[in-house]
Amino acid sequence: MGPGRRRPWAVTSSRPPPEPFAVRHLVVHVVPAATDNLVWLLVDHARGEAAAVDGPDARTVLAACAALGVRLTTILTTHTHGDHVGLHHGLRSDGLLGGVRVIGSAATASDIPGLTDPVVDGDVVDVFGVPFRVMRTDGHLTGHVCYVTDGAVFCGDTMFGGGCGYVFDGPMDAMFQSLLRLAGLPGATRVCCAHEYTEDNLRFAWLLEPDNHALADRVARVWAVRAAGGCSVPSTIEEERATNPFLRPGAPRLVRSLSDRGLVADPTDALAVFTAARLFKNQGPHKKLADPLDAARALLAS
Ligand SMILES: [Zn+2]
Repeated sequence: MGPGRRRPWAVTSSRPPPEPFAVRHLVVHVVPAATDNLVWLLVDHARGEAAAVDGPDARTVLAACAALGVRLTTILTTHTHGDHVGLHHGLRSDGLLGGVRVIGSAATASDIPGLTDPVVDGDVVDVFGVPFRVMRTDGHLTGHVCYVTDGAVFCGDTMFGGGCGYVFDGPMDAMFQSLLRLAGLPGATRVCCAHEYTEDNLRFAWLLEPDNHALADRVARVWAVRAAGGCSVPSTIEEERATNPFLRPGAPRLVRSLSDRGLVADPTDALAVFTAARLFKNQGPHKKLADPLDAARALLAS
């Protein structure tokens, strides 16, 4: 098997994927696509079938399936932004959407091409014999859903490695509650998000919490894996709780970083702290700062 066969995603990206992991009998691969999208493929080798979680286009996903020797028969849709339902549109254009089982939020049914299985919060969908619980997570987009299964959550654009999605539809409280629900999953749960944004997110996290040893450790690990051309995900819920600023509205240094800038009036109000952090990040203050790697290493050595 040559390198081209092992890494079909090289069609659109030179980044090597991380090792696949197992959810019961399914093998889970991450396929980098478009600029920074991450498509999760759930592969049942015995059936010769795969399910994709979202996708910006059909070509990359079909190439990955072909290289793995399986057919794409199922799509789990988290939300309806173009870089998540581009897969559906592409399959339909090519006449390939018929016969594909398309799972997605009933709240956004009209925007999901080929939807066959509309779902609501608390539903459990069976994918190749494995149950996936639907968790509605409004905030990024109303009707956004995540899929929770044994040891993994496929969370679209709600939570990212070290960060969270833009709050487009909001309100802020809905996004905050969605993130808290995700944070309440078992600590070992793998966080399978839809974009490779971790470095940018950790730069912002470091701006707010430069005394956080877990964050320093994560910076060192993520910088190493990205320098080697790898993917920074999946993380775990435990790791996110310890380092993701949007899950840490009670962390003293983080609160002080925001209140010292006059960004939060009541530091004891968790929603106000979350909102201040989200709005501050939108301004991109971390993009002008020095790379945090040296400071992170210094903290770890102290
Ligand atoms: Zn989105």
